[in-house]
Amino acid sequence: MRSWHRDIADFFFPRTCRVCGRVLMRNEEYLCVQCMLDMPRTDFGVQYDNAMAQLFYGKIVVERAVSYFYFTKGSDYRLLIHRIKYGGEKECGSYLGRMMARELVSTSFFEGIDYIVPVPLHRSKERKRGYNQSEWIAQGIADETHISLCADALVCRTHRESQTHKGIYDRYLATREVFELLPDNELRGCHVLLVDDVVTTGATLLACAEALFKGGVRRVSMATLAAAK
Ligand SMILES: [Zn+2]
Repeated sequence: MRSWHRDIADFFFPRTCRVCGRVLMRNEEYLCVQCMLDMPRTDFGVQYDNAMAQLFYGKIVVERAVSYFYFTKGSDYRLLIHRIKYGGEKECGSYLGRMMARELVSTSFFEGIDYIVPVPLHRSKERKRGYNQSEWIAQGIADETHISLCADALVCRTHRESQTHKGIYDRYLATREVFELLPDNELRGCHVLLVDDVVTTGATLLACAEALFKGGVRRVSMATLAAAK
């Protein structure tokens, strides 16, 4: 935004820090300088044998795995993820994706990565929410690294297991989300960076990575904004 536009906009509609709520200075975006400094960063970018990578040991081979910050119960940074995911603050997701990538550029994290692929949302969820937060985070990383974003090859579908003998509740439980890499994609033989908002057990990232490998992707790395601690 042009600076005088921003000054006028700030006067009438003050922008506030998405973590502490303080009114932002002219040069601050989404988070104040103090909250950027206090962010509980992980050291995953310089330590490849980290807690996130360990979630996948014995299951699949993950080249590199990184999270920007820790996601702890009751923390204001947890609220930040909530705003990005459910509160319509998708641009803040893109901004933090850019900031994470900027801090990782001095490491070898992005070396050899051909494409960035966001974890897809099921179509009905995306329609309801209006956007896929992981795609916005991935876009931020792509903007900073100039690695191509591929957001339409990996899809999420609902799979209903036929269990007609069971009650309504059990039938509901038998509905699960499955990921699939569509044919005719450009990812075959490539090294893909899979991007999500948060990693907790790693189950979603694992399911996505398995779908990528099944579809011919050769190597997978992972990045999330937050990691549960
Ligand atoms: Zn703040």
